Amino acid sequence: MTARVLSGKEAAAAVEAEVAERVAALAARGKTVGLATILVGEDPASQVYVRGKHRAATRTGMRSFDHVLAAETPPAEVARLIDELNADPAVDAVLLQIPLPGGIDPLPFVERLDPGKDADGLHPVNLGRLLLGRPGLRPATPSGVLRLLDHYAVDTRGAFVVVVGRSFLVGRPLAVLLGLKGRDATVAVAHTATANLARLTRQADILVVAAGRQGLIGPEHVRPGAVVIDVGINRTPEGLAGDVDFAAVAEVAGAITPVPGGVGPMTIAGLLENTVAAAEAHAGR
Ligand code: NAP
Repeated sequence: MTARVLSGKEAAAAVEAEVAERVAALAARGKTVGLATILVGEDPASQVYVRGKHRAATRTGMRSFDHVLAAETPPAEVARLIDELNADPAVDAVLLQIPLPGGIDPLPFVERLDPGKDADGLHPVNLGRLLLGRPGLRPATPSGVLRLLDHYAVDTRGAFVVVVGRSFLVGRPLAVLLGLKGRDATVAVAHTATANLARLTRQADILVVAAGRQGLIGPEHVRPGAVVIDVGINRTPEGLAGDVDFAAVAEVAGAITPVPGGVGPMTIAGLLENTVAAAEAHAGR
């Protein structure tokens, strides 16, 4: 293997240490930071993610509130819980675990959140601020990807970045963030209608893959020396796998993230940063 492995665990630990300092500074002023999570249904993957988020929040000194609802909970009841948490001064940020069971559209619930308590940074007000280049709570996975690049001193200025995937959760906001002034990347976004994916991705200095298709990206998709960030999480009989054929691409790329232990921990880091930023705003910093 020739590529440098970019550990999300290591980068996330650095972010957590910063967040813990900010949480302690608020505690010194009498403010306890609170994160509430809402998990609807019993999807095992979502249960693991939510547990990981609670553990990380607790490690940084936050208080976490765990709300688990049955899969068949009526939408009005989920909405009522969101209203309660919006009004609760002990709660600084609310995370609604996505996807919701039964293919329920999460957007009406995300839109119901107080934008100032939007732990995942997906409320239209925050996405609008992102598009305007104004401060706001940023989508957790995209901001985690940027923190990972920063941690390993990967410069995005002037780089050609290809993002594979255009979901509102990952690909689209990440493309916007990368193109903002200061980040200064030139960005292309690929999706299922992209003609000749390999021809496009082979031009990338930085390739970010968020498609949810195991093995989509092989060495033929990667320019020698490129930085490859694998956001994908796919369940296989052998455990978790990304969208990138790690072993083969690591022979070509200059740097690559593993799955697990790559972007996953950085998403949690992004969530913690949003939560402490929300608490600082609530404390009137
Ligand atoms: P999504 O909503 O299903 O979106 C997938 C995107 O990939 C779509 O835009 C789709 O294109 C595109 N795509 C799918 N197959 C493709 C192909 N063969 N060629 C080119 N583009 C293709 O998924 P998501 O929510 O963005 O998540 C993507 C992956 O990231 C999933 O595996 C998810 O589990 C993972 N994820 C990981 C984290 C983390 O913390 N590591 C966080 C969030 C998500 P169309 O728009 O044309 O359909």
